[in-house]
Amino acid sequence: MRQWLRRRRERRIIQGSDLGQPEWAGLCHSQRVLHRLSNKERERLRQLVILFLHDKQIVAMEGLELNRYMRWVIAAQACLPILNLGLDWYRGWQTIMVYPNAFEARHEYMDEAGVVHEERGLQAGEAWDQGPVVLAWEEVRHSSSLVIHEFAHKLDARNGVANGMPPLHPEMDRSEWTRVFAWAWKDFVARVDAGEAVPIDPYAAEAPAEFFAVLSETFFEAPGQIRYFYPDVYEQLRQFYRQDLLV
Ligand SMILES: [Zn+2]
Repeated sequence: MRQWLRRRRERRIIQGSDLGQPEWAGLCHSQRVLHRLSNKERERLRQLVILFLHDKQIVAMEGLELNRYMRWVIAAQACLPILNLGLDWYRGWQTIMVYPNAFEARHEYMDEAGVVHEERGLQAGEAWDQGPVVLAWEEVRHSSSLVIHEFAHKLDARNGVANGMPPLHPEMDRSEWTRVFAWAWKDFVARVDAGEAVPIDPYAAEAPAEFFAVLSETFFEAPGQIRYFYPDVYEQLRQFYRQDLLV
């Protein structure tokens, strides 16, 4: 019964949306990362985007003029990773803040001696474990990497803190995930330290959480590169996202 009510409510929201077929077709055309989707998948993504925008609040910061097209772009990139997972994976938080350009981020961290330090710096995006996602439009309009990266952190943080392992599906094996990712991260850090040119953003070497987020971007944008360098990681991501990008 509840399921039925929910579907009825969702249908009403979808029917009332201004994101119609012509607008959606234009948007899919403009987003390279969506080109590989079949017509059926595109339609499912359109519906997900409408429901996502109904649930979440996208807030313009520092005078940014945020039009509906910009909201659709952000939502389309954000929903691509959950196309086969469902909107519940983004449950429990509300807000996406969008700055025109890179914004000043402040972070406190405690060192080994227990002293709290403050770090400041310009950032294009960030995802709070239990809070908002923050994005710089200037970066979003050029590439889908940033949005996929930050939303991968949100998926990762669903089981507490973002640490490189999101909650896995029942059919997946935690120890296999840990083994595969730990080995690949170590290998990647060694390659970056050795100055080797690997076509994966070296920022992935920062921490296991960044490795997961960067490899998630790469999974959707250049899956062949992950399969070439880290086929076992590709397989884990394929199982997690329930999308096979190389068929
Ligand atoms: Zn990150």
